[in-house]
Amino acid sequence: MRFVHDTLPQRVAFGSGAAATNLSGEIDGLGATRVMLIAAEAEMHLADTVAKDIPVAVRHDDVVMHVPVEVAERAREAAARHNVDVLVSVGGGSTTGLAKAVAMTTGLPIIAVPTTYAGSEATPVWGLTEGAKKTTGIDQRVLPKVIIYDAALTMSLPVEMSVASGLNALAHCVDSMWAPNADPINAAFAAEGIRSLAAGLPKVVADPMDLDGREHALYAAYLSATAFASAGSGLHHKICHVLGGKYNLPHAQTHATVLPYVLAFNGPAAPEAERRIAAAFGGTSSALDGLVALKQELNAPHALADYGFREDSIDEAAEAILPSVPPSNPRPVTAADLRTLLRAAWSGTRPEPYSF
Ligand code: NAD
Repeated sequence: MRFVHDTLPQRVAFGSGAAATNLSGEIDGLGATRVMLIAAEAEMHLADTVAKDIPVAVRHDDVVMHVPVEVAERAREAAARHNVDVLVSVGGGSTTGLAKAVAMTTGLPIIAVPTTYAGSEATPVWGLTEGAKKTTGIDQRVLPKVIIYDAALTMSLPVEMSVASGLNALAHCVDSMWAPNADPINAAFAAEGIRSLAAGLPKVVADPMDLDGREHALYAAYLSATAFASAGSGLHHKICHVLGGKYNLPHAQTHATVLPYVLAFNGPAAPEAERRIAAAFGGTSSALDGLVALKQELNAPHALADYGFREDSIDEAAEAILPSVPPSNPRPVTAADLRTLLRAAWSGTRPEPYSF
């Protein structure tokens, strides 16, 4: 074994029903006195409950998916105007993303309270959108100092969104097995993330108020993002990045739909990943069988056509993805491979392992 692994400095406080207490303790620990509370309008009531014991200087609910630059600018101006000394984000990846945009230019610390399984809270990756172009980058200043996980805050996440978001986390795990900086530590986190998602998500679908299922999914979201932050973007994330940015497809649903097709493509060329993923699914006959069975059980998104991706965009998308394919991908990728993969994901046909 030979590898170099960076471990990111973050404190994680996990406790259902404990977010308000944990947050108050963390604010005291930082010595912060002027909080910018960031939450989308729909989640502000959750945020207010969580922030009931902390000194909020400004509540900011101007949150938009993929963080348009003008939205980031307005949030930065609000932070300056109210002279805040810490950012507290309560919400999904879009809300965490806005806090990151403010931290990037101000250096303010973030305490993230996630309410989906997107995992942005555990990565130093920021994203901004200008016009139709999304740019992402890595900056240690945007890595939240503290993450506060409280599964009670995820109870209201609709089942459909919970499934799509949970599969977004699963995609972080699977892609981490072969991404450019894949290493055994990432693989261990990813495998445990897959196991925990496979245990938790069916319970959430059966009963959205099942706390044990919600805790398993949220714990897995952290593991998945930690693995992804270290391993980097593999083929799956490169494909979804282009699809999301160029065709404005919804983030979590796109990941949920594309994942089995990438696994069908890469799995046969990555035997160790294949073995670990299948084992994490509980010893299924193959990694792909495990994923397909879980997706069926969850009634998960299965065709890009359902989210507005058009058949006549397949060729263009394949050409746009090709230059970003990681050279370390377990097998070579041609434009024709990408067209085949995208066509299958567009129509939602049952993914079949590619033969050599
Ligand atoms: P989101 O944050 O846009 O939330 C999706 C929907 O769920 C929204 O309508 C939101 O209001 C609602 N919601 C959130 N929590 C809820 C709750 N507890 N109850 C009810 N409704 C709730 O979507 P997302 O999938 O969490 O995040 C997607 C964004 O995050 C994308 O922009 C993506 O690029 C980014 N992201 C970034 C990273 C990173 O490392 N930087 C990682 C993953 C995702």
